[in-house]
Amino acid sequence: MKFNKKLENIKTYEAGKPIELVVREFGIESTEIVKLASNENPYGCSTKVQDAVGAIVKKMSLYPDDSMTRLKDAVKKHFDIEVPNIIIGSGSDQVIEFIMHAKADSNSKILMNSVTFAMYEIYAKHIGAQVIRTASQEHDLDEFYELYKAQKPEIIFLCTPNNPTGDAISTTDLVAFISKIDSETLVVVDGAYMEYAAFKDKNKSITPKELIEKFDNVIYLGTFSKAYGLGGMRVGYGISNPKIIKELYKLRPPFNITTLSLEAASVAIEDQEFVNNCIALNFEEMNRYKEFVNEKNIDIIESYTNFVTLCLNDAQNSTQISDSLLRKGMIVRDLSGYGMNAIRVTVGTKEQNTRFFELTSELL
Ligand SMILES: *Cc1c(COP(=O)(O)O)cnc(C)c1O
Repeated sequence: MKFNKKLENIKTYEAGKPIELVVREFGIESTEIVKLASNENPYGCSTKVQDAVGAIVKKMSLYPDDSMTRLKDAVKKHFDIEVPNIIIGSGSDQVIEFIMHAKADSNSKILMNSVTFAMYEIYAKHIGAQVIRTASQEHDLDEFYELYKAQKPEIIFLCTPNNPTGDAISTTDLVAFISKIDSETLVVVDGAYMEYAAFKDKNKSITPKELIEKFDNVIYLGTFSKAYGLGGMRVGYGISNPKIIKELYKLRPPFNITTLSLEAASVAIEDQEFVNNCIALNFEEMNRYKEFVNEKNIDIIESYTNFVTLCLNDAQNSTQISDSLLRKGMIVRDLSGYGMNAIRVTVGTKEQNTRFFELTSELL
């Protein structure tokens, strides 16, 4: 059977290996498995969220509230913006998909960092658009600007802090860069880990309000999957000016967020204390990774997120090390597919990290 030609050179996105598959493939008890591969919040989500979701499970026969009033009001309040500035997606992944279809087609060019979130390229290929990448590993905004002038992309993706490297763009550089971009080019600022960056360094923090007040051609993306601990609920958002949001809405399937997910996200964003506690613990534990790599003579990229990227030395091979860890029930992310001899490890709980240090020490 023939399929759409555009699918021919798309590699299926490989999510962090699910615990269930490790149980089946290696016969390890699920309680023995530690997953530090998808940047989930190791402390789970707020107990207030758990209570609220538990209280509404009886409502599942009805379609969700498609106006999403409760969640949009909560997002509006949190970011001090207006409801027409907001679109909610089944993960911010879905918002990226809307953006691609709304703004680009098979004649378009999409500009992104050399190493960045894999879904930008996959969605670009869905529509047959051409992907243009910078050369340097960290976001080099001068290089972005040169490529922008030469290639005239339809969309520019900036991921800050960046996944899978953890580094972040400074607020002043980001604003100066966007000021030079013409109003026809859409700039996407993916802030999936922004809660962490804002906590660690004010100079790397950017709010959607700042962005949309300054620029008409920017959309900010956020997610409930990382700091809020709701990866299983699939909720993300885009914040932009109402004209852009209105176009994205034309692509949204009805009822794209379930009743349980709407409730979970609404309660989660109101419990900032929980999030801040998790982020504080995250950076405390991250210090242990810095000590660990110092001892082992491995490089670590300064991270503004809930994961660390360990750049191995020539005597070590990231694929071998992540495979060996997997056999011992420790799931991490091999970055060889991104052209890096590195592994990405989500900063877990104290016990999970200790286990990582033990198992990795045995391999090095
Ligand atoms: C996790 C992640 C997302 C989206 O996650 P969703 O679960 O789809 O909301 C988007 N961008 C980056 C960089 C991410 O790491």
